[in-house]
Amino acid sequence: MERNSRCSRLLPGAIRIIYSNRYLDSMIKSEEEWKRQLDSETYQVLRKKATEQPFTGKFLHNKEKGMYVCAGCGAPLFSSDTKFDSGTGWPSFWSPAEKENVEEKSDRSLFMKRVEILCKKCGGHLGHVFEDGPQPTGLRYCINSLSLDFKKNDEKGASAKPKE
Ligand SMILES: [Zn+2]
Repeated sequence: MERNSRCSRLLPGAIRIIYSNRYLDSMIKSEEEWKRQLDSETYQVLRKKATEQPFTGKFLHNKEKGMYVCAGCGAPLFSSDTKFDSGTGWPSFWSPAEKENVEEKSDRSLFMKRVEILCKKCGGHLGHVFEDGPQPTGLRYCINSLSLDFKKNDEKGASAKPKE
């Protein structure tokens, strides 16, 4: 009997710990939290769906080998192996690294019918996908540099670990 009551006294604390871990994993952040985490330009693109000026992005001419990850949450999004020069002024890829890490959404803003690309994990705006890309997919993922961070292949800790 005594042991049982001790167990029940411990339980509420244990539940709190489990709950707070789950909360951290879920990537649900308020706009205030995103504002604190991101610089203002990145915030405007990732959370407010702004588009950076063409030919200004830091990754447009990046030719190094590695993985482009989400600037909001670090999810692996595009491999340098699928990057190509589209001439549009934005980093372009013909395929996501992990299809399940990106989400496609119909976008009818600016009087155009486009397909928006978002990070599935944190909901951050990445860019758009068009059907005028090179083979083998024929797709062009037109992505803002500001939505991305880059992890070089030879960087420590960035070794082959595409999935969590
Ligand atoms: Zn993300």
